[in-house]
Amino acid sequence: MTYKIHCKCERVEISLSNKPIVHAFCHCEDCRELLDIPFHSVTAWKEENVSIDKGMDKITVFQHPTLNMQKHFCKHCGEVLFNTNGMNWRVVSQLLISKCNDNELPQELISNRHFFYEQRVTDIKDDLPKYLRGTDGPLYQDFCGG
Ligand SMILES: [Zn+2]
Ligand SMILES: [Zn+2]
Repeated sequence: MTYKIHCKCERVEISLSNKPIVHAFCHCEDCRELLDIPFHSVTAWKEENVSIDKGMDKITVFQHPTLNMQKHFCKHCGEVLFNTNGMNWRVVSQLLISKCNDNELPQELISNRHFFYEQRVTDIKDDLPKYLRGTDGPLYQDFCGG
């Protein structure tokens, strides 16, 4: 599969190919610090599966001063195309993919879990598995016993 995304002004176009590493809600502190959002609905891609088809020279990279994270955004419209993390994943917002796909997120990219749920600032009530630390490992159990 290939998914196309672009920024608001369409000067930058990117193709995402193959399968994402994860498609999930991330509750980690680092996403919160980098992006100022309570949690992030992400698709994460390996570097080799992300190709910049147009506008390479329009992308500006912000390196966070203390975290091993970067924001890659269009210098004309300010839209963040992806961010990177310490594992060198290319993290693309599900919202951006949806916007670039007639406001519909492809079924196979819909979140199937929460991760870093231990670091959450917002409780979520749904039936998805909630991994406390990484993308797998120990799970959160609510007091009703799930
Ligand atoms: Zn733009
Ligand atoms: Zn995160």
